[in-house]
Amino acid sequence: MSVRVRFAPSPTGYVHLGSLRTALYDYMFAKKQGGSYVLRIEDTDQTRLVDDAIDNLIQAFEWADIMHDEGPFMENGKLVQRGDYGPYIQSERLDTYRPYVDQLLASGHAYYCFCSKERLDEVREANKAKGIISGYDGHCRNIPYEEAKKRAEAGESYVVRLKMPEDRELVFEDMVRGTVKMNTNDSDDQVLLKADGFPTYHMAVVVDDHLMGITHMIRGEEWLPSTPKQILLYEALGWEMPKIAHLSNILNTEKKKLSKRHDSVAVEDFRKKGYLPEALINFLALVGWSPEGEDEIMTLEEMTEKFSFDRVSKSGGVFDIQKLNWMNNQYIKNADPDRLAKLAVPYLIEAGYFNEDGVEGHLDWVKRIVQLVKEHLEYMAQVTDHFPLFVGDEVKITDDSALEMIRMDHVETLVDALIKTFNAAESFSAEDVKAMFKEVQKETGIKGKNLFMCTRIAVTGQEHGPDLMETIAILGKETVIKRMKYAVSNYK
Ligand code: GLU
Repeated sequence: MSVRVRFAPSPTGYVHLGSLRTALYDYMFAKKQGGSYVLRIEDTDQTRLVDDAIDNLIQAFEWADIMHDEGPFMENGKLVQRGDYGPYIQSERLDTYRPYVDQLLASGHAYYCFCSKERLDEVREANKAKGIISGYDGHCRNIPYEEAKKRAEAGESYVVRLKMPEDRELVFEDMVRGTVKMNTNDSDDQVLLKADGFPTYHMAVVVDDHLMGITHMIRGEEWLPSTPKQILLYEALGWEMPKIAHLSNILNTEKKKLSKRHDSVAVEDFRKKGYLPEALINFLALVGWSPEGEDEIMTLEEMTEKFSFDRVSKSGGVFDIQKLNWMNNQYIKNADPDRLAKLAVPYLIEAGYFNEDGVEGHLDWVKRIVQLVKEHLEYMAQVTDHFPLFVGDEVKITDDSALEMIRMDHVETLVDALIKTFNAAESFSAEDVKAMFKEVQKETGIKGKNLFMCTRIAVTGQEHGPDLMETIAILGKETVIKRMKYAVSNYK
C-alpha cells in the first residue's frame, strides 16, 4: 500500500512555526517513502474561522515550498482542489459524516445526549468544586437507543457522544514515543456531532483519514489525549487505524512552549523580516530531528533523503533564534545576487530610498551594495542599516579618533592627489580604484593607515566598514570627490 500522509490544519489566520514543522515532516516522510502528501483543511469549528485563512495558509506553504500533492491550491487568485479524494475542505464534506454517526448510534458505540447547556455548566461547576477536571457525567448514556432516536426525530436538540468504555487500557505504538498506554477513564464521553449538525474534530478526522486512504498521521503532542477516542472510533467502525506520530512541542530558549503571546511564532513574521524560506526550513527540520552526520546546512532534498522518525526526539526541540540567524546568514551569503537584490527592494522602498517606479533604475546599485554587506545580514530587513553609507554628498565625522586622523597634516595632500587621479579616470570599478590608490601611494609616499583609513574617513566618516575599493566604486567618482572635499573643509 502506498504511503499517504496528511497535514490537517485548522485555518486560524496564521501558520505557527510548529505547524510548518509538522507539514515539513509530513512532506519529508511522504517523499522519502515515495508516497503522497495531502493537505486537508479542518474547518468544522465554525467559531474559529477567519476570512482568507485558507488562502494565507496556502501562501505560507507556497513561500516555504512545502507543497502538497493533493488538496486545495491557489490558482490565479482562486481556490481550486486537486486529487482523487476531494473535497479536501471539511466544511464541504458535511454530508459525509452523518451516516457514520448513525452507524455508531445504532451499534451502541455512541449515544444521543439531550443535556442543556445550563445542566452541563452545573456539572462543570460541581466538578470544579470537587477538583475533578473531567467533564460530562454520563447523564444520557443509558437512555435506550430507540427512545432517544424518537426524541431526536421529534425535534429535541441533541449532540451525539462517544460511549467511552470504562477502565479499558488502550495501547498504541507511536513512531516517536514508542509504546503509549492510556486509560479510557481519563477521557470523558467526547461529543462527535454538535447540536448544529457539524461533526467535531474527532469524528471528522477519523472518517476523513479513512476515506482518504491516509496511512500515517503526524501531529503535535497536544493531540495525544485525543488518540484513545480515535482508536475507539476506528474499532467501532471496523477500520484500520493509520500509523501515528506525535511530535513534541517546539520550546523557546527558556524551555517553555513557543507561544503566540511571548514569542514570534507566525511563519509570516519570518517571511516579513526576510528570512529565506530554505533557511527557515533547514533550521526547523533540525528542531527536534537530528540526522546522522555532522552536516547542518542541507537542502530539502538532502534532508528528505535522510529523514526518519527514529531520529526525531521525544523531548521538545529548542527554537534558538541565534542559530536561525546564523543559518539564515549562511544562506544569504550563498544566495543568487539578483534574488537577494530583489528581496532587499521592499525594505529599501519602505525606508524611502526610492519608490516603486525607481526599482528598475536602482536594482543594480542595490545588488552591488547587498553583495558588499551580505556577510553582515542575519535577515534581509537588516539591509537598511547598511544603506545610509551610500547616499548623500556630505559625511559626518563624530568619533574623536576619526577626527584626529582627518586632521592629520598629510590629509590635504592625499585628498588633492586622489581627486586629481579620480578626475582623470575613465572607468571606476573597484579594480580601477585599487590601481589608482597604488598610483597615489607612489606619487605622494603616503601609505598604510595614513592612506587607506584617512581616505575611508573622508569618504564615509567612519574608520571601519565594507571593502573600501568597492565602496568608492559604488559611490561613484562625483560623490566621492564631493565627500572628500566636504570632509577636509569641514573637519580641519
Ligand atoms: N485539525 C487539527 C489541527 O488543527 C489536526 C490534528 C491532527 O493532525 O489530527 O492541528
